[in-house]
Amino acid sequence: MDQTAFEEKLRETQESKAENAVLQPTAKRDKLIEYLLRINSHGATSPFDFNLKKRYEILRVGNADRLIRKRKDPANDVFKFVASLEEVFDIVKAAHEGIGHGGGKKTIAEVKKKWSNITQEVCYLYISFCEHCHQKKARKVPKGLVVKPVRSHHIFSRCQIDLINFQTLPDGDYKYIMTFVNHFSKFCVLRPLTTKKAEEVAANLLDIFLTFGAPAILQSDNGREFVNAVIAELSTLWPELKLATGRPRHPQSQGAVELLNGVIQDKLAIWMQENNSKKWSVGLKFVQWQINISRHGTTGHSPFKATFGQEPQVGLGSSVLPRSALNEIATEEDLETFVENEEGGEDAVTGAAAEVESDEDAVTGATA
Ligand SMILES: [Zn+2]
Repeated sequence: MDQTAFEEKLRETQESKAENAVLQPTAKRDKLIEYLLRINSHGATSPFDFNLKKRYEILRVGNADRLIRKRKDPANDVFKFVASLEEVFDIVKAAHEGIGHGGGKKTIAEVKKKWSNITQEVCYLYISFCEHCHQKKARKVPKGLVVKPVRSHHIFSRCQIDLINFQTLPDGDYKYIMTFVNHFSKFCVLRPLTTKKAEEVAANLLDIFLTFGAPAILQSDNGREFVNAVIAELSTLWPELKLATGRPRHPQSQGAVELLNGVIQDKLAIWMQENNSKKWSVGLKFVQWQINISRHGTTGHSPFKATFGQEPQVGLGSSVLPRSALNEIATEEDLETFVENEEGGEDAVTGAAAEVESDEDAVTGATA
């Protein structure tokens, strides 16, 4: 990936925006922080000051002052940081790669969780430089197949299982990928299989059902016979569970399976390349995660959020703590010390402390 070429192009597009350029060099962005600190202590005196105060605020994190977009509802709005030109590459790279090289819309949705002034245009520009994305083969998805959102009521709640054949590239004993998708949330579970026998599929499904609950209808493009065998096997493992066999080619889901299989294979190929590994049974878990945290085109949410009601937390990295602080925090005691140092400061600090506290709650909640 050619960072210099990307940044050159980025500067070009920003310069043509002149005064209203959304992205400014770090020095210029940090100047705004100085101005704001002065305004906070001496009060606003000029129209420039008032304008600045209306648009931005300062968040003190650790021993650094960060520029964030002014929150309309300070109690509930999340912090959206203001990125500088030089920071864009790393930010978009992390977002784009974190969701396994999703497209422009998915990448911007990921970026927007934390950053206020990076546009979709910038994400598309980044992707135009991404070699992995260039290498993605044009997939043979039949044209004109529009995947409509499936209105799934409880009684028609529907899941689909399918198998992708990996016999030509076995990973140890693993030769197949079982894909499981909940049609309502689009949440997917991917499992490596050694055989395509109903017993092995059912054993994996049982584990999934006992974690997430079970749908009313089970369908597969592998046909009714396959589904019937799996359901029969499941009922020996869990006698109370009753499932209906879905139509093999449910009209609303046609095309979705081919699409998902293509996405899985692309992301898996990139994972193996990036990690220089042929262990796709391991890569599969990351691909599953990447798909589940990416915004879905038809639902408008990530499958993760549709399932759990909130976006996923990824350790301390999900908090507003700066990278430098993350390196210093190893234990819960470190975290407490860090939060205590934050408390008792100025106005802007309380925001930071509150956020850090809520993160701490999440951490203790998870380990309790
Ligand atoms: Zn990419």
